[in-house]
Amino acid sequence: MLVSVQNLHKSFGDLDVLKGIDLSIEKGSVVAVIGPSGSGKTTMLRCLNALEMPNKGTIQFEQDLRISFDKMPSKKEILQLRRKSGMVFQSYNLFPHKTAIQNVMEGPIVVQKKEKAVVQKLAENLLKKVGLEEKMHLYPHQLSGGQQQRVGIARALAIEPELMLFDEPTSALDPEIVGEVLTVIRDLANEGWTMAIVTHELKFAEEVADHIVFIDGGYIVEQGPPAEILKNPKEPRTKQFLNRLL
Ligand code: ADP
Repeated sequence: MLVSVQNLHKSFGDLDVLKGIDLSIEKGSVVAVIGPSGSGKTTMLRCLNALEMPNKGTIQFEQDLRISFDKMPSKKEILQLRRKSGMVFQSYNLFPHKTAIQNVMEGPIVVQKKEKAVVQKLAENLLKKVGLEEKMHLYPHQLSGGQQQRVGIARALAIEPELMLFDEPTSALDPEIVGEVLTVIRDLANEGWTMAIVTHELKFAEEVADHIVFIDGGYIVEQGPPAEILKNPKEPRTKQFLNRLL
């Protein structure tokens, strides 16, 4: 397993959001996380790279890194965890005063202290990969939502993470633009990237994911292959959620 999460808890004040999450992500697999709004999907994803600090539990990356949150982890541990994954946000989160290529170069230069010429080449290649070679010197406000999100994906890839995290990557996009972003994500899946995707796009999840995780009320209620979870769910809550979407 690339990632093993055990008994993960997260609360915001009195609100218990994650109530003991156990999750494994196999190397090279795509995990789609589905569930009702407010069930804790985004919080779980953000905990995986310590954008939210879990209150309890462990996150392990192979034999490399094992962090227990039962006490506050060290700064070093948190940085190590952050560098394992690249996050793609629902609202892109690009730096507005940097061009597309400057956005992509930021992580490798600032965080990883890589040489500028090397990073420039890497960023050009990544922007080419997401179909934006013509747009690399434009600023976010000069790009469509779908183009901005593709810059977001290139930026997350630039730190060469072991795990790609996508937090509802298409939910801010106009319907006619959703496809261009899903195509990029599908290509990454085919290249063998390990990915966890919070998504409402069940058709896409069915097509691309190896494993579906259904979360409700801060628990993983049911998980398994798409054919099982989406077509033949066992748990009443999963059935109810899927029925509402039909
Ligand atoms: P989902 O992604 O399944 O829609 P979230 O993980 O975004 O759910 O949110 C789960 C619950 O946690 C919600 O009730 C939300 O209001 C709450 N929550 C999320 N982030 C915060 C925060 N930073 N501070 C307080 N409450 C939060």
